Amino acid sequence: MAKRTKLRLKPDIFLYIAVIIVIIILGNKGINAYKTHQYHKTTEYKLITIGYTKKDIKLLSKYYSEKELTKFTKDKKKNKLLLSLMENKYYLHKNLDSYLEYQDLNPNKKLEDVIKEVNIRHNYAYYEGTVKTDTTLNNEMLVNKYYYLTEEYEPDDLVTISTKYSWGTLGSKKIRQEAYDAYLKMHEAANQEGIYLMVNSAYRNYKDQERVYNTYKNNQGEAYADKIAARPGFSEHQTGLALDIFSLKSSTQSTFKDTDAYKWLKDNSYKYGFILRYPEGLESITGYNFESWHYRYVGVDLAKKIYESGLTFDEYYAYYIEK
Ligand SMILES: [Zn+2]
Repeated sequence: MAKRTKLRLKPDIFLYIAVIIVIIILGNKGINAYKTHQYHKTTEYKLITIGYTKKDIKLLSKYYSEKELTKFTKDKKKNKLLLSLMENKYYLHKNLDSYLEYQDLNPNKKLEDVIKEVNIRHNYAYYEGTVKTDTTLNNEMLVNKYYYLTEEYEPDDLVTISTKYSWGTLGSKKIRQEAYDAYLKMHEAANQEGIYLMVNSAYRNYKDQERVYNTYKNNQGEAYADKIAARPGFSEHQTGLALDIFSLKSSTQSTFKDTDAYKWLKDNSYKYGFILRYPEGLESITGYNFESWHYRYVGVDLAKKIYESGLTFDEYYAYYIEK
C-alpha cells in the first residue's frame, strides 16, 4: 500500500520540481531584465554609451560627485582633453579653468607644459596675477616673480653672520637663526673637503631691494632692471632664508659655476637644508638666469625631497605645498 502511494506521488513531485525550476528561470530572467533596465538608467551606462571607459569614469569620479558626473552624459562624446589633463601627474583640479583657457590660447603647447606653467602661474606675465606669500609656512614659504612679501615683512629671528664666513663689515650680513645654524654645519663639512665657503649676500629688507632695483631702473630702464634684479617684495633675500654663497678662492659670478665649491654645493647643500634655487636651463620656470651662487634654506626634509624630485622649488611648491 505504501509502495503504491509512493509510485503515484512520484510524477506529481517531478511536476512540482519542473514548475519551480521554470519559475526560478523566468524569475531570474525577469530580475536580470529589470537590473539591465535599471543599469541603463545609470550615469555610468550613459557615459559608456558616449565613449567613456570604466577607467575614464573612475578618473572623473576622483574630481566629480555622482551628481556632477551627470552633466557629462549630456555631451555627444567623451571629453578627451579633460581626461588627458587629469591623467597628468601634476594635474590640480582647482586650475582646470586656467588650463583650458591657457591651452586655448596656446594650442601647440604640450599638455604637460600647460599644466606645469599654469601651476606656477606662468599663464600670467611676471609681476602680474601676483599672490601674497604665505609667511606662516616659515621655511617653506615661496617668493618669486608672482609671490611677494609686503614692505612690512621682516623675520624676527635674524642673526649676524660672522665675518669668518662672510665678506663685508660685521653686522652687514644677517640671516635667520635656523638657516645660520644649518649654514655653519655646511661650512664645516665643505671645509673638511678643502672648500672654504663665504657669504656674499644674505638678508635684504624691502627698502634695500627697492634701492638696488631702482638704481638699475633709473639708469638702464625697467626691462633691464627686471632682468638683473627682483622688484621690491619679490626678492627671496627678504625671507632671510636666501644666501649668495661663493668660496674664498672664487667670488666671481661668471666663473663660480666652474669651481669645486659650486660642484660641492650642488651635490651636498640639500643635506644641510639648502637648495640651488635657480638651476641651469630652467630660467623659463624660475624666472631667473642660472645662479650658481644663490641658495635657499627650506629645511633638511624638504630640501631632500626637492633635490630628489628633480623639480624646481616653484613647481614643488605648487604641487606639494600649496596644492
Ligand atoms: Zn641671491
